[in-house]
Formats: sequence, C-alpha cells, structure tokens
Amino acid sequence: MSKQTRQFDEEYDVAVIGAGIGGLTCAAYLAKKGKKVKVFEQHSVPGGCCTSFSRKGFKFDAGVLHLTGGKESGAFQRVLSALEIEDEFKFKEQFQRFIFPGLTLDSSRAVEDFPRKLKELFPRESEGITNLFDIIKSIYEDIKKLPTLSPLLAKYRERSFQELVDEHIKDAKLKALVNANWHLWYPPWNNSAIDYAALMVTEQLRGYFYPLGGIQAVPDTLVRVLKSYGGEIEYRTFVDRIILEKGKAAGIETRKGKQVRAAQVVSNIAARATFLNLVGEENLPEDFVKTLNRLEISLSSFYVYLGVDIDPRTTGVDAPETIVYETYDNTEEWNRLLEGELAIPCFGISIPTLVDPGLAPPGKHVMIIMTMAPYYLAGKSWREEKGRFARKLIAKAEKLIPGLSQHIVVQDAATPLTYERYTLNTMGAAMGWAFSPQMFMKRLEQKTPIPNLYLAGHWTMPGGGVPAVALSGLRAARMILGE
Ligand SMILES: Cc1cc2nc3c(=O)[nH]c(=O)nc-3n(C[C@H](O)[C@H](O)[C@H](O)COP(=O)(O)OP(=O)(O)OC[C@H]3O[C@@H](n4cnc5c(N)ncnc54)[C@H](O)[C@@H]3O)c2cc1C
Repeated sequence: MSKQTRQFDEEYDVAVIGAGIGGLTCAAYLAKKGKKVKVFEQHSVPGGCCTSFSRKGFKFDAGVLHLTGGKESGAFQRVLSALEIEDEFKFKEQFQRFIFPGLTLDSSRAVEDFPRKLKELFPRESEGITNLFDIIKSIYEDIKKLPTLSPLLAKYRERSFQELVDEHIKDAKLKALVNANWHLWYPPWNNSAIDYAALMVTEQLRGYFYPLGGIQAVPDTLVRVLKSYGGEIEYRTFVDRIILEKGKAAGIETRKGKQVRAAQVVSNIAARATFLNLVGEENLPEDFVKTLNRLEISLSSFYVYLGVDIDPRTTGVDAPETIVYETYDNTEEWNRLLEGELAIPCFGISIPTLVDPGLAPPGKHVMIIMTMAPYYLAGKSWREEKGRFARKLIAKAEKLIPGLSQHIVVQDAATPLTYERYTLNTMGAAMGWAFSPQMFMKRLEQKTPIPNLYLAGHWTMPGGGVPAVALSGLRAARMILGE
C-alpha cells in the first residue's frame, strides 16, 4: 500500500513517548492490564536520566546514583507492588556521609537517628531540633493527603526550607547540617519547605538503596516486565508530532514519518517539548502556554566519571556517597552558581563499587564526582570549561583521597549539555521543574488540556526523582484505565 493511501502505519491502545522511568512504569502497568502498548524512545537504551554506560570494564551510572523509597511503605515499593515485581530487584542499602570542616555525619535508615546525632552535637538546640523534625514528619504525613491542603501545608506552602529551619534553629553550623542534602538541586532559601521536608523523610531519614548490577537494572527490569505482557518498545525513534483529531490526541508521528494510531498518548518527555513542539502552541489554550513558559526549571549537574585503580577505603573514604562542604556558609558559592559561574557550593563522591564490586574490574573502583551546574555559563562555554572544571573537581576529591589523580584508568565527564543531549530534558534539568516554594503544586497534572494526552515523568506531579516519576507513570496508567 502506498504511503499516500495508508493513514496509519501501526495501531496501539496507548503510545508512550520516552522510555524514562515514568514512561516505562506507565507502559508496563498498562500492558499488565491487557492494553496494547508501545514505547517510542529516541535513545538506544531505556532509562533517560536513569541509565548506565560502560568504558573499559567499568560501569558508570550516568545520572541517578541511588534510589529512595525502596523499602516497605516507600513510593518506589508501592510501584513495584502494583507491577508485582517486588522480588525482581536486588537492592542493597547504602548511606551518605556529610563532611563539613571538622565534622563528619553519616545518614542512616532509622528515622530518629539523624535528629539524635544532631542533638549530641548541639545539645543546647535539642528542643529546636525535636520541634523541627516533628514538623518535618508531620509535613510528610500531610503530603500524602494532597490535594487536600492541611493547615500545616497551607502555612508552609509559600515558605522556603531555610525559613522553616530558621524558626527552630539558631546555630549557623547546625543550620548547614540540616540543609546538607542537596538533592533538590537548589540552595536552602530557594527550596520549598514542603518538598525539602518530603526529601528529608524519604532520603535522609528512610535510607538510600542501590540496585545490584547498576542503575540500568531499573529501566531494564521495567522493559522486561513490559515485554512479558506483550508490550513493545522501539529505540532510536524520535517522536516529532502528536497527531490530533478534532482537538484530541489520536496518535504520534516519528521523525522518519511513521504514523501510529493510539487511543491514548502518554508523554514522558520534557513538558515544553511535548506541548510547544509536539502538540503545537496553536492547539493549546493561551493561558496554558503562558504558564508553561513561566514555570521555573531545575538546575542541571556536572559529573566526572572515573575508573580508578586505588582502593578509596585505604584513605578513609569508605562511604558509598560522600557529600563534601568546604565551608558552613556556602551562600556566596550558591549565588555565583545561580549567576552562571562555575562555583561549587558542595560536591559529592559516589563509589558504587563499595556496594557492588562487580561494576569494575577486580581490585578497581568506579568513582563519580558530582556537583550541580548551570546550563548557561556567564561569558564562557561548556566546551571550553569542561576539562578545566573536571580537573578542579578531581583536585578537590584528591584532598580526601591523596594520589587520586595518579590512579585514574578511565575518565569522562558530563555537562548540562550532555544531559540535555542524551535525555532531551530542557537545559539538562535534573528534576524537571524546580522545587522552589513558588512552584509548589504548580507542576502539571497527568491530565492535560488535550483530551487523550497524559503526562508521566518529572515535568508532572508529584515531582522529580525515580520514585516520584514511577508514581506519576502509575497514576497516568490508572487514569487511562479508569481505576
Ligand atoms: C545527573 C542526575 C542525577 C540524578 N540523581 C538522582 C538520584 O540519585 N536519585 C533519584 O531518584 N533521582 C535522581 N535524578 C532525578 C531523576 O533521574 C529524574 O527525575 C527521573 O529519572 C526522570 O524520569 P522521567 O520519567 O521524567 O524521564 P527522563 O529520565 O527524563 O527520560 C525521558 C526519556 O524520553 C526520551 N525522549 C525525549 N524526547 C523524546 C522524543 N521526542 N521522542 C522519543 N523519545 C524522547 C529521552 O531520550 C529519555 O529517555 C537525577 C537526575 C540527573 C539528571
């Protein structure tokens, strides 16, 4: 049949654009429930930000370094239960070590452990610490009742985490310790009190987990589940357009011109790309487009990937993740970074081979040095700065691991442009939209202004991070199924 007379090349119940964790979770659940589903992914591997790559026998996690919510009542566990794959992953518990000048603090899985350690260090602030963590835990409980806004959430919805901490803590060093988890990619005065409280409970107070075999095990498992229920995935396929019929999503068109009919379309890709490129501004309500262009985007990252032939434990670095603060007050560094300079408010050293030695050749280690980074550099280009910035971070890590630079077997690095190139997330954003107080509850809904078009991933509710995007995928699937 000639292309002119054939309207659609393929037909599915649901077409999913993007094989990030949100898209894959959604597709796997729909397939499990009997829907005919196909995922279209522009890259050659599934996972988006949650992928691994290999160099000379070393396996590096490109972005995601750990999971949270992986045990008992955690969000990720709920998704695994819904897919009935609790036993498919072999998670190993890990922890983070925070290093400040003259002070080291390890996270642990016991919810009460972190505040207890803080009280030992700052006995005069005991009462404030108790009150602060009581509020943090209450906020976390109230979040589960959203969209109903409890009085506590209403009180803090427009406040930063810094403001919440300031209400209870006086000592500047203690404030720095409480603010030390940088995983919302923003400084404390820009982080939403509510989102940060949720992060604290799910990460610092509930523990971190690492899937044996590396981070790629997560998307690979979801693809296996998808296929086991008859779902399909097509790689190296860029989706160019969401086909609309009478204003409703009716399928997709790939860059190579293949047209696929689908009763429902789920987009797991950057929100602005979904609406402004694939749907087209002319097909959307004006207000929606205005809002979309106004929403704040999260920062990106800079990673240095090292394969090393030194055992970091011999130099005392024996935590799977170490977060280093060279000062208790990194306000200036943060401000410089937000202005597009290569400043380092803090940096992390992740050594997944301490959890899974199989990720490197025998006796060697994978080491990832990371920090947050702006997409636009003031007066400079990432192309020029990439090597210099990598050397700067290695030099910082070398203060903890003497001789590190002499033991590098393999080296690579990723800038915000790298993350953008591989995941097509706008400006290489690590978390989709930012987690500022202004953005609280402003993330887009799974349901969109276009009937039959749904969203999954970190540009939609509930937010960024693997557990959250997996939940978003499950929610989108359940909406489609009418569950
Ligand atoms: C450097 C970094 C470190 C992080 N660390 C952690 C961590 O330790 N723990 C944690 O929980 N979270 C972490 N995050 C956040 C987490 O990775 C993300 O929030 C989450 O993985 C995003 O998933 P997603 O479902 O939104 O899809 P994404 O991962 O954004 O994937 C989207 C997919 O869509 C594909 N795509 C895009 N456009 C098209 C198109 N037009 N056609 C076809 N395919 C397309 C892309 O190739 C990609 O595969 C990190 C993120 C980054 C960047």
